[in-house]
Order: sequence, then C-alpha cells, then structure tokens
Amino acid sequence: MFTDRHVHTPFCLHGSSDALENYVKFAIESGLEGITFTEHAPLPMEDPLPDKDSAMKTEDVEAYLAAVQELALKYQDVIKIDAGFELDYIEGKEPVTIAFLEKYPACIPHSILSVHFVQVNPDEYFCVDLDRDSFTQKGEEIGFETLYTLYEKTVQKALALPYGKLTPKKIGHINLIHKFQKAYTVKDPIDWKKLLDTVKANGYILDYNFAGIDKPDYGKTYPDAEMMAYAKNIGLAYEMGSDAHAAHEVARYFDTALHLEEASYTEEV
Ligand SMILES: [Zn+2]
Ligand SMILES: [Zn+2]
Repeated sequence: MFTDRHVHTPFCLHGSSDALENYVKFAIESGLEGITFTEHAPLPMEDPLPDKDSAMKTEDVEAYLAAVQELALKYQDVIKIDAGFELDYIEGKEPVTIAFLEKYPACIPHSILSVHFVQVNPDEYFCVDLDRDSFTQKGEEIGFETLYTLYEKTVQKALALPYGKLTPKKIGHINLIHKFQKAYTVKDPIDWKKLLDTVKANGYILDYNFAGIDKPDYGKTYPDAEMMAYAKNIGLAYEMGSDAHAAHEVARYFDTALHLEEASYTEEV
C-alpha cells in the first residue's frame, strides 16, 4: 500500500481545474492508503513568470487548507489525507519563507522543499523548469555548465536548513535541472553523489518523483535510477510522489516503480 506524497490542486493556476475530491477519489481507486496535498506555497517574492502562475496566492492559503481538512474528515475511514506545501527555496528571501512557515507548523512534516528558481544575478531569478525554449536560451546565454553549477549551489543551500528548525526536510525532484536534457548537450558538472551525501548528512529525505517520466525531454524519474541506486546504498530514505497536477495523475507509475524494485531485488539476490 502506497501513499502519494506530492499532489497539487486547482489552487495553483498552472495545473488542471480538477476538484480536490476527484484527486481523492482517484487515489482510492488506485488503492492508495494515503494522499498528501502539497500545493505550491505562495512565492516569497513577486512571481517572475510571465503568467504569474507559479504558486498559490497568499489569500487562498486558508481556503486550500480548509478544503483539504474537509476531505480528510469526509474520507477518514477510507484514506488518510494530509495537507502540506511544496515550498520554493528562494535564495535571499529566507526571512519571508520563515514567516510563512511559522504560521503553518502542522504542515511542515508533510511539505517538500524544491528548487525551481536560481538567482542568476541580484535582480533576476530564473525558473529552470518552465519550458525547453527558455531553458536552452538561458543555457546558451550564460553557459549550460554555469547554469547547472548555479543550480547545484542553490540545492546545497536548500539542504543546509535555510529555515532552521522550520525547514521541511524533504528535497523535491533533486535533479529537476535535467528536465530538458535531451534538447542540448552539456558535460554535467554536478557532483550528484556529494549532493545525495548532503541530503543524508543533514537528515533530509528524497521526493522520489514520477512526473519526469512524462516529460518528453527527460523521460525518467527524479532522481533517476542511477542516483536512486546510490541513495539506497547510503541508506537514504525517500517518499514517492506523482507530482500530479490533474486527478488522473495521482499515483502515476507507482506500479512500475514497485516492479522495478522487485526486479532489482531479485538481481541482487
Ligand atoms: Zn506545479
Ligand atoms: Zn516542483
């Protein structure tokens, strides 16, 4: 029995308009024992994206939590439902994020800390997962290796308890920088083993995220199989998440992952 611990809702404006209850129903049909909603928390800065749709609006947070709470009660005998956030680690905006987390301490154990934005200069935060064109354009402009190294440094900061005791200690899709990797060539400068060692050393766990399988320029899980093998070797814990932005995406590929694990287990034996 699985729990899907990375699920979005209509409260962020870049997903589907599927009702929260439809996500719950799909989770039940998929045989899950739990579902954790992790809507994008409001950004601690003005949204740099053209459509300003990266995250939930501050005025919607209470309604989001109330909606999850209502479903948790309604379905309490059928499935466990929790409310968390997917928080953006935004370098330089830590105090704003701390103030947000102080308001919602009960959500922290169910939350994910992700890097979607890197600070390319004091006034510019670049979104690494928006689309292929903006990524390749930025890579050609500043160099793909520079962009990767910037991402690595930002993830290292996210892994260094940037919000002290309030830090959600689960790192989201740690290699999101690979999302458009088939669209360009780069000699990956990131020391992934070192990053995974840091995850472990600092007491974080991994968001084992299945959204990447559906991305045409990537096609794998985050982290990929090789990183997961290393993570398991060093005893790093992980939690599975579909990163669903539509109800039918809940628990996507969870079965495949299970079969792969059984296969690798058989091989080891
Ligand atoms: Zn999203
Ligand atoms: Zn994310």
